[in-house]
Amino acid sequence: MAPRRKDMLSQYWYDKSLNIKKKDFGDWIKKREIRFYGENNLYKSFTDKVINNTNEFIGNLMLDIKISESDEENPINRLFRDMPIADYFCKKKVQYINNPSSLRYFTSYSGGMLILTNKKTGEIHNPRDYDDGRSNFRYGVAIISLSGGVRNNARIIEAVIKHELTHMLGLEFHHHKNTNCLMTRKINSYDLCKNCHNAINSFWNGIEERTGEKYLKV
Ligand SMILES: [Zn+2]
Ligand SMILES: [Zn+2]
Repeated sequence: MAPRRKDMLSQYWYDKSLNIKKKDFGDWIKKREIRFYGENNLYKSFTDKVINNTNEFIGNLMLDIKISESDEENPINRLFRDMPIADYFCKKKVQYINNPSSLRYFTSYSGGMLILTNKKTGEIHNPRDYDDGRSNFRYGVAIISLSGGVRNNARIIEAVIKHELTHMLGLEFHHHKNTNCLMTRKINSYDLCKNCHNAINSFWNGIEERTGEKYLKV
């Protein structure tokens, strides 16, 4: 059974969504599609598995959003290729990566973007911290850096992808207490706890109410 809305309001971002300005709704959600941008050195079997598993993950959240592989160049690689190498710009690049909204200038795609990169995101809090990513609901961008401690373990990469994807789907939340959940800072579970799962549902219920569009398959 779904928790009472009021319970979610006090704990999660949904309460903010009630006051959210129209501009804060990512237009990307209208497309109901997220494109996955990998790195050239990723095995196809790994990419396929990530796409399957993230689709299953989104399906479990009852969201009517599909993840598919992009055939465009990875936007971060394009960014690095197109920008001059001077230090000044190197700094800027890091800023671009720290600010996912900037990626909007480098793609014509209007849906969501889930990007894996070998480049540093520029702000990895702690080498032991698996949360090597940046994500943003408004702009529909999630970036996962493989440059930190995560790169050698496919299962951990997948957990970080799901963690960032969950942020991108609206949960701006980390547990402060030691709970078994994908949304703890150190990602100490491969799954969402029930509260986070319900919070995402509640959040998208709020979006449905505000937009009059259907996004949940219930
Ligand atoms: Zn996080
Ligand atoms: Zn949780």
